Amino acid sequence: MTHRPRPLVAGNWKMNGLRESLGEAAAICAAVKEGGSGKAEILVCPPATLLISAAALCQGMPIGLGGQDCHAEPHGPFTGDISAEMLRDAGASYVILGHSERRAGHGETDQTVRAKAAAALRAKLTAIICVGETRAERESGHAQAVVGAQLAGSIPENAPPGSLVIAYEPVWAIGSGLTPSPEDIAEMHGFIRSQAARHLADQGAQLRILYGGSVKPANAAELLQIQNVDGALVGGASLNAREFMAIAGVYR
Ligand code: PEP
Repeated sequence: MTHRPRPLVAGNWKMNGLRESLGEAAAICAAVKEGGSGKAEILVCPPATLLISAAALCQGMPIGLGGQDCHAEPHGPFTGDISAEMLRDAGASYVILGHSERRAGHGETDQTVRAKAAAALRAKLTAIICVGETRAERESGHAQAVVGAQLAGSIPENAPPGSLVIAYEPVWAIGSGLTPSPEDIAEMHGFIRSQAARHLADQGAQLRILYGGSVKPANAAELLQIQNVDGALVGGASLNAREFMAIAGVYR
């Protein structure tokens, strides 16, 4: 029997959260302390402005913090950007890369994502590389081809074991309340696992593959038990500690 990696439940706060939102982070910490995360590893990715405060709040707690993007260079004349080293310095151990909102809204290509992922590894951050097809790509039968190309183009060479996580996030499922069928998710996650084995050799079996796109407490149990789903990347529902921890609670 293959050993399943420890599940990861990650919250992507996106461009949401002022200092008062740290109360939600504190509530997540309190819930984890009480055992609410069960077997799952918990990760919160707040906006960069809150990372240092969140790190102070979560100090000593089994909760990871992550950034939502990074620049490929360690420092330099890149106004408005944040490097992987800066995220690490602020208390992050993960960074989300290639989210569809960055690919679509900021013109990020697979090549950009791969360079950023290499930067994350350089800074000893775990890179969560997001992939996923649009509705048109799924409807035209190209979902696997699109995701396969994103994986091939975005995964950096010689990634050490455990340094990468893949998040399958169909673009049309993000923030829409829609989700693929369990069969479609199982098929895509199995495909991603097989592709990962090609790009990451023997790490493929241990790679964590998250599902993301409208995960809520009401559908988490069904989605998270699907084969090769090793956790969730949660957007909207991660802004509320109770909802987020109800999702993680599936792994109790
Ligand atoms: C996301 O943006 O990563 C995401 C999964 O969002 P939501 O859960 O709101 O669909």
